[in-house]
Formats: sequence, structure tokens, C-alpha cells
Amino acid sequence: MPYKDIEMRKAKQREQYRKHREARVAYQRRYAQENKERQRDYNKLWYELNRESVLLKSRNYYLTHKNHLNELKQNKALALKIEVLTHYGNNRLACVECGENQLACLTIDHITRGGMEHKRTIGGRQLYYWLKLHGLPEGYQTLCMNCQFLKEWGILNESCALPS
Ligand SMILES: [Zn+2]
Repeated sequence: MPYKDIEMRKAKQREQYRKHREARVAYQRRYAQENKERQRDYNKLWYELNRESVLLKSRNYYLTHKNHLNELKQNKALALKIEVLTHYGNNRLACVECGENQLACLTIDHITRGGMEHKRTIGGRQLYYWLKLHGLPEGYQTLCMNCQFLKEWGILNESCALPS
């Protein structure tokens, strides 16, 4: 018999919901596994039919959450930069030559040159992302700007004694 009292009915429904939660989740998972393609086609179709409203919604979301989203993006970019620089600084966030550790001074150096060309092809700011995407390949190191310049001029490791 269904409950006439709405509150009681709701309570009963909640109880049922809790009782069968695991079984239902398992079923949904299995269903999703077995119907992957069907689901994908359906999603695609749904997106095509609702494309404009989806775009409008995400546009509105972006506009109302702009600052927050930009902050997230910046935090993410910063975390990535720190991770990559630390990796190529032999697990220290510092220049491998002189130990300079101010983040603003640190850059990625292509050990075998060709750096500018590579940066040009993938875009300077994308270098950290590119390195991460390619599994942090060998051939790079963390250098500070000073050491980078000294290397460019071919006088890295030269003593800086004044000429007599
Ligand atoms: Zn240095």
C-alpha cells in the first residue's frame, strides 16, 4: 500500500534509495560500459541539437566567473612552471649553475642549443606545457637568466677576474 502521508512516503523512498544504492551504482556502471557507443552517439546528437544553448550557457558561465576561472588558470600554469623548473633543476627549484632560486629569474635552457627555434615552433609560453606533455624529456636544464646570457655569449664558467 502506498503511503498517504507524503512525508512518510518520502522517508520510505529515501530508505529504499539508500538500501539499493550500491546495486544501482553497479548497474549504472555496467550499463555505461556495455552501451559506450550508444551513449556516445546519443551525447553527440544531443550536443548537436543543443549546441547553441550549451555555448550560450558556457559563455555566460565564463563571463560571470571570469576572475575565478582566470585565477584557477594562473594557479595551474604556475604550478606547472614550478614542477617543470624543479624537475630540470635536479629536483631543486634553482639554477643548476649558480643556485639562483628566484622563480622570476629561472628559465628552461635547451642544453644542445636550438632553443629559440624550438620555442618559436611551439610558442614560448607553451614550453612548460609541451615538456610536461612529452614526459619531461632529457636535454633541458633550469638556468637563471644570467647564466643563460653567459652561456649565449660562450663565457659560462669563465672566471670573472678583472683584466690586469
Ligand atoms: Zn644561474
